[in-house]
Amino acid sequence: MKYRFYIFLFLYVVLSFKAVFSQNKPVYGLVIHGGAGFATRESLHGKEKDYLNAMQLAIDSGYRILERGGNAVDAVEATIQILENCPYFNAGKGSVITKAGTIEMDASIMEGKNLKAGAVAGVRRIKNPIRAARLVMDKTPHVLITGKGAEDLWIKQGYELTDTSYFYDREMLEKWKKEREKEKMTDKHGTVGAVALDQYGNLAAGTSTGGMMNKLPGRVGDSPIIGAGTYANNETVAISCTGHGEFFIKHAVAFQVHALMKFKKMTLKEASYTVIQEELKNIGASGGLIAIDKDGNISMEFNTSMMFRGYRLSNKKNEVLIFK
Ligand code: ASP
Repeated sequence: MKYRFYIFLFLYVVLSFKAVFSQNKPVYGLVIHGGAGFATRESLHGKEKDYLNAMQLAIDSGYRILERGGNAVDAVEATIQILENCPYFNAGKGSVITKAGTIEMDASIMEGKNLKAGAVAGVRRIKNPIRAARLVMDKTPHVLITGKGAEDLWIKQGYELTDTSYFYDREMLEKWKKEREKEKMTDKHGTVGAVALDQYGNLAAGTSTGGMMNKLPGRVGDSPIIGAGTYANNETVAISCTGHGEFFIKHAVAFQVHALMKFKKMTLKEASYTVIQEELKNIGASGGLIAIDKDGNISMEFNTSMMFRGYRLSNKKNEVLIFK
């Protein structure tokens, strides 16, 4: 009799622990960024709250898709579209300007379930480049399509091109006028990205950007490069990066985080710290990343002074942040 009592007691304790533990562990959720950089409170011109609200709006739209049982890739695409339509972030409507005065946007998306991926680079007349990246993934046998080819695909699929005047923001033009005399691309960067884990355990990642202010026309950064700016693999993690793209390409940042987790058995926290705070920081490469792993752990690591970022998880945790 006594023996049975102890077995029941043991089971009760184990099950209660499990219940408490699983309540804390998110089943699904998403993380976003709106770029890492060196903005200060003053440089946001009193719009800090508006930036936070814009990020929350984007997070909520993607989260709702996950909550209703939608898939990670749809959540990522929907979230990024909202960020692309917002003039605050360097993607879509808020894109920066090249040395030649053009606006050239890059985007990519990846599904962790099957490693399907799509990307576009140097598009000038597509309102939401992330949708074009999704088209490349879903409708073609390719991964990356550039410039005119991407715009032709867009038209062929029944969508309209957007007049380039839509992308020119007055404030951005003023900034560009100050920067264009400089020899190099400036530190003025940004980008938007989203990563998601859905209720079925599938991961997805996406990134969209106008690139770096004053870049040479035709320059392509890390954002549309699978393994550099974006990567998702159900075995490990989904990642979207932001920062000085040339370094992110050379260090295969997104893939490297995955590889450290897979082959070195690092946790997400260890892997993202190693790449952003050690490897990149040591060579003076600025930027950051957002990530969510297959167990719902998240990372928002950056070595700049700030990164627009936020997350919402099914364990009710929700935050939007800008500074450290
Ligand atoms: N990584 C982007 C690029 O190099 C810019 C950024 O994220 O800030 O094009």
